[in-house]
Amino acid sequence: MINVTRAFLPKQEEYQAVLKRAWDKHWLTNRGELVLELETKLKHFLNASYLTLTTNGTLPIQIAIKALGLKGEIITTPFSYVATTSSIVWEGCTPVFVDIHAEYLTIDETKIEAAITANTSAILATHVFGNPCHVEAIEKIAIKHNLKVIYDAAHCFGVTYNGQSIFNYGDVSTCSFHATKLFHTGEGGCWITNNEDLNKKMYHHHNFGHDGPGKFYSVGINAKMSELQGAMGLAVFPYVDQLINERKIIVETYNQELEGLNLKRIKLREQTNWNYSYYPVLLKDENTLLKLMAKLQNNNIYTRRYFYPSLNNLSYTNEADVPVSEDVSKRVLCLPIYNGLSIQEVGEITSLIKSVIH
Ligand SMILES: *Cc1c(COP(=O)(O)O)cnc(C)c1O
Repeated sequence: MINVTRAFLPKQEEYQAVLKRAWDKHWLTNRGELVLELETKLKHFLNASYLTLTTNGTLPIQIAIKALGLKGEIITTPFSYVATTSSIVWEGCTPVFVDIHAEYLTIDETKIEAAITANTSAILATHVFGNPCHVEAIEKIAIKHNLKVIYDAAHCFGVTYNGQSIFNYGDVSTCSFHATKLFHTGEGGCWITNNEDLNKKMYHHHNFGHDGPGKFYSVGINAKMSELQGAMGLAVFPYVDQLINERKIIVETYNQELEGLNLKRIKLREQTNWNYSYYPVLLKDENTLLKLMAKLQNNNIYTRRYFYPSLNNLSYTNEADVPVSEDVSKRVLCLPIYNGLSIQEVGEITSLIKSVIH
């Protein structure tokens, strides 16, 4: 069976060797030495001013909304994972959907200003499949209208844009280290910011609002990463460059094999150094997508409709006029990509695709 993704695992002995440090100390959470060490490594790797590890990639989005004091409407993309929208609603704000660009698949920056009202407090956009939003245009709009900017950068580990980490844009960026993501800690995530004050607020929020024992700075939640997660991160981290290189070869093979077929690939924004995290293709229409999915499934190959549905269709969001997102979400299919997927398997997948699509 070939699944759409598969978690990368280091050798079990390597995980155990790191884990032993937690065992020896009888210390499993509350920012122990493994989490602190992983934080330092990631900060250097990503060239981040402030980076804090969390127990998943959704809580830092919610904490960012809380810490920035956002109220009212937040402009966002309907083409993302549900966590982007649900975090807005969970924090008592209203998502206002702006359509996406038909080729980049990120929020269409030219349509943002028309959606701004007196109640708008922020823009929360996703760098879709690791493809950066038009961050310069969004920054200009944010400054002009006094809005905050949060990037859901869950897919962006290792992505650079204009020669620097994509995490350095916006007031704050969040990342996910879920088992299915390129770099992972089983479950996990982080936020990255250059703003010391904001970082401090988010830090307090992520630890119950504690400001020392018996002292509370604010309301809080528990979003701390555990030492077990930290150990997985430390065991996976040495492989990061290898993971990206292996995925690059898979992506290049798909590109070569699918050249000339009636399907479209994502257009990467210029000046992007991508991480090869996903392999989405856009089919001619939904029928073709369903036909292709079934054909692959009959051969024990599993793809994923990602992202589907367009998030304006959730039961708890308002209707929105976002025809591009509606259309794309019905036609987009993510093909299998993971470390350990062989070139021969990619060949089997692409020859099945060629039997359906010409
Ligand atoms: C994975 C993902 C999240 C959520 O991250 P978790 O670590 O699973 O909580 C949020 N946004 C996007 C775009 C994602 O792909």
